[in-house]
Amino acid sequence: MKLLFLGTGSAEGIPALFCDCSVCVEARRRGGPNCRTRSTVLIDDVVKIDLPPDSLAHVHAYRLDLSGLQHLVFTHSHDDHFAVRELQYLSPNFAPCRRGAPLNVWATPELIRKMLPEMEHFFEKAPLKFNPLAPFHSISIGPLQVTPVPAHHKSDELCLNYLVRSGETTLLYATDTGWYDEPTWTFLEGRPLSAVVVECGKGRSKNAYMGHLNVDEVRAFKERLVRAGGLSETAPFYVTHIAHTGLLLHEEMSALFAPDHIAVAYDGLELNL
Ligand SMILES: [Zn+2]
Ligand SMILES: [Zn+2]
Ligand SMILES: [Zn+2]
Repeated sequence: MKLLFLGTGSAEGIPALFCDCSVCVEARRRGGPNCRTRSTVLIDDVVKIDLPPDSLAHVHAYRLDLSGLQHLVFTHSHDDHFAVRELQYLSPNFAPCRRGAPLNVWATPELIRKMLPEMEHFFEKAPLKFNPLAPFHSISIGPLQVTPVPAHHKSDELCLNYLVRSGETTLLYATDTGWYDEPTWTFLEGRPLSAVVVECGKGRSKNAYMGHLNVDEVRAFKERLVRAGGLSETAPFYVTHIAHTGLLLHEEMSALFAPDHIAVAYDGLELNL
């Protein structure tokens, strides 16, 4: 499985648009892995998870060709993941040479209901095919077997994380996550995982918001999966969705997590799992 991290930042990115905190100031100075756009990944070139407002910037930065993208999977409707107005640029007015099948959109029925009126506004007939997802129900998405699991992120909406399987490889892509409720833990426990990507939206801040994980919670998240027997201690384990308010530069976070065999993803990182 090829996993390309197009973006690894939280909602406002790093450096954040209007911020001059010490992390943003230093990230502007250092550049490189300290600069983070909003979180999204591309799997095996054909399945993209989430559509942040930075998607055009990703196309430019990585010289990506998304004209043939087949599947777009949404986690939830926060603005950093759900810039659905960008889908208007699929229209023949903006992509006159685009051929082929409609883009498959995979999301909860609630998210699909949110998108439909917007799409009706842009298209007479949208070049989109909407596919509803239900938690714990595996489904084939292109070449991948995908199982949505509920996150603990937003009290008024079902937010999904994903188990993604390709051949013998199973990835847990977990953002925006929070500390899972028991049904999700029960479902995951003991399930063989080849690799995990999980958000660390709170870093080392003492923020009490329960919809994201801090450094200690990420460690506990990994420990729980390892203890349950499905994940090896040394399996690829990456954090993403990193915020300046987490008070850690890339190098500091990498050093902090190194003893735990946890690595810090960065924009442009490509893994072959
Ligand atoms: Zn987010
Ligand atoms: Zn800042
Ligand atoms: Zn969110």
